[in-house]
Amino acid sequence: MTTIIQPSEIRDIAKLERTGMHSHIRGLGLDEKLQPLPNAQGMVGQASARRAAGILVKLIQDGKIAGRAILMAGAPGTGKTAIAMGMTQELGSDVPFTMLAASEIFSLEMSKTEALTQAFRRSIGIRIKEETEVIQGEVVEIQIDRSATGAAAKSGKLTLKTTDMETVYDLGQKMIEALTKEKVLAGDVITIDKASGRISKLGRSFTRARDYDATGPEVKFVQCPEGELQVHKEAVHTVSLHEIDVINSRTQGFLALFSGDTGEIKPEVRDQINTKVAEWREEGKAEIVPGVLFIDEVHMLDMECFSFLNRALEDQLAPVVIMASNRGMTRIRGTKYKSAHGVPADFLDRLHIISTTPYTETDIGSILAIRAKEEDVDLTPEALAVLTKVGGETSLRYSIHLITTASLVAQKRQATVVDVQDIKRAYTLFLDEKRSVQFLKEYQEEYLYNDAVASTSSIE
Ligand code: ATP
Repeated sequence: MTTIIQPSEIRDIAKLERTGMHSHIRGLGLDEKLQPLPNAQGMVGQASARRAAGILVKLIQDGKIAGRAILMAGAPGTGKTAIAMGMTQELGSDVPFTMLAASEIFSLEMSKTEALTQAFRRSIGIRIKEETEVIQGEVVEIQIDRSATGAAAKSGKLTLKTTDMETVYDLGQKMIEALTKEKVLAGDVITIDKASGRISKLGRSFTRARDYDATGPEVKFVQCPEGELQVHKEAVHTVSLHEIDVINSRTQGFLALFSGDTGEIKPEVRDQINTKVAEWREEGKAEIVPGVLFIDEVHMLDMECFSFLNRALEDQLAPVVIMASNRGMTRIRGTKYKSAHGVPADFLDRLHIISTTPYTETDIGSILAIRAKEEDVDLTPEALAVLTKVGGETSLRYSIHLITTASLVAQKRQATVVDVQDIKRAYTLFLDEKRSVQFLKEYQEEYLYNDAVASTSSIE
């Protein structure tokens, strides 16, 4: 008999609150002089790598290194991904960030170069300005404060009841800027100091203008037929070049954005879009926001990919590419040659290389304390000390994972605080890499297809 599951019985996994590996990272933890603080924004230690990353963020923000590539090189678990995440946080929320494991580009659905092109274009944002709302109204009065110029009007103010917008615009661009800064809206009565062009608001007297949120997006004043003041509300959104490609690709259509099944996009479509974006830029309707493409495990890329990247980085619309590798000297995929990090020497030469170093026990302790807080787990000081010791002897990642498992063990004995015994229990339940290898050596005979006897070196 089949049991029918009621929809209400299904727990939506997507809606469960999950804590990501790097959710505690809120930035690079630098001061205003870009010096690393010992423990800030979830970041601990790794001072010189963080400082280097901070300088690169500054250069990216100043638009100086779009289209460059950075390599984060260091042993596993030394914070390469964490630092890349920190860089993104520093860059701000509308800067696109795409993360890709190099192995993901090897798929049967599209060529490697198409997958890389899509990743590149996902990482370029186009900030589009759109005038969404126009509010029109008559100018009832503009008050010009003559007192500053010394002209003694009886009240100190000359009230100019005007419907002549020329008078307003005669004061020039400076005034329009001031109007925008002061968030003067249709209906506001404004006082203009003629000498300085300073504007102040006197409250609203205009009833015909629609009510309007002064804290909303930018407001623009536009010269218009006499007697009318137009307030334009500008909305700004950032979309990625890839999204524009997909929407305009006749074969895929915009629904592909939801399914993610975008397939290959024709080069002609991309050319047309590049031309269009260039036009929008010239017309002041759009700005390009170079984002970040993070390629993890870069040693998994092959020679063709590197040669593609070499050229793609020269493109005017290239993002900043951050790559990470935990390999030393290794074979370049698809060749018989060895090179540092599995990256060809000519490509390596064009990279900014940041290296990460192993953590001290104090750093490990601080990172574990941050992670425990992030996961809402209370640890006794003794438990944290034991966990730190385990982290030093195994790996940072293993000890981070123990926080979660030990807290489940503690919950089982109805304790709210994780103590040494819970860490010990979790440590015996889950093996770290070294003990796992040891275990294999002890029980190798009992495993299927075990070739450790033939080549013991593979597990030693
Ligand atoms: P791999 O080479 O194995 O991919 P990695 O160098 O990318 O490793 P991460 O994944 O960044 O290592 O680090 C492992 C864990 O430790 C993550 O949860 C990360 O957020 C955290 N972590 C690493 N370095 C720091 C740091 N300096 N401050 C705070 N948390 C850190």
